[in-house]
Amino acid sequence: MGGRREMKRRDFLKGSAVAGAAAVCGAGQAAAQEAGGDGMPKLTPPSQKAQLNLCLQWGGIPGGEMKEKLDFLEANGFASVEIPSGDWPIKNGEALVEALKGRKLFIATACGPSDFSYAEPEKREEEVQKFLPVIEALGKMKSVGLIICPARGKLSEPGRLSAKELRKDFVENTGKRLAEHAAKHGTSIVLEPLRRNETPFLRQVADGARIAADIGPGASVMGDFWHMQLEETSFMGAFLCAGKLLTHVHIAGLKERIIPGVHPEDVYVDGFRGLKLLGYRGAVSFEGGWPKNPEDPKKGLPQEERTRLILNMVRLLREQWAMA
Ligand code: MG
Repeated sequence: MGGRREMKRRDFLKGSAVAGAAAVCGAGQAAAQEAGGDGMPKLTPPSQKAQLNLCLQWGGIPGGEMKEKLDFLEANGFASVEIPSGDWPIKNGEALVEALKGRKLFIATACGPSDFSYAEPEKREEEVQKFLPVIEALGKMKSVGLIICPARGKLSEPGRLSAKELRKDFVENTGKRLAEHAAKHGTSIVLEPLRRNETPFLRQVADGARIAADIGPGASVMGDFWHMQLEETSFMGAFLCAGKLLTHVHIAGLKERIIPGVHPEDVYVDGFRGLKLLGYRGAVSFEGGWPKNPEDPKKGLPQEERTRLILNMVRLLREQWAMA
């Protein structure tokens, strides 16, 4: 290549908004372009700018009625809503779509338990059959997808597949069929890596991205800051490893699994930098509990105080997003 052209390319890369960021993985969207003068890789900026789309899970949204909850989200700077899985999307999907008309909220994921690690094929088949209509309902709602944790507990227990067997079966059979069904209905399955004490199977975002890539269309991955805090060496690196396959993010306090902003340890700037590098526009959804009621730990926090903490979280996450 001619020297002049090469110079221009270098100048462009030097000027890029993301020059200097270093973490790159094989599956990452932001591929390394070339080594710069300091030996650090240069990254391609995302084709679209990332957005912080804050989201709450259904049960945690203040308000009783559907309309009240959606009003709260809209009035307080949220862009998205996360719903329960199980029968919920089938029973409430139409009503929610109707209630969302004219609002600027999108339906992120449906979240609930799943298990594909049973050694008995009939039990795994039951689990697949259970989720097929849920996926159809999510497709109709234009939801991002169905969160799936392929296995919980100990795979060494009797009646469970080994991790090796489960990976093969999930990629070729159970996960594959759900993902194909999801792709057909315009949604996805979203693999969620958990902590080591919760699952021996899927603990890292990069691994989830690899499994999703092996499954193919209809499969994606998410990152949950709470789990990532224990399992990843870098929030940013982990998100970059997922690249375009990252479709959802859960967030909670990093010291305690409660609403962010209660402890000073709740710093997400590094992770947000990763999301910005990806041009991520999915939801960042709070999944966690609440601090104890100082007056009576058994009682739980009054709604008024919960609402105050939600608004405090919104402010904190916006500030940290701006810093990233
Ligand atoms: Mg989670």
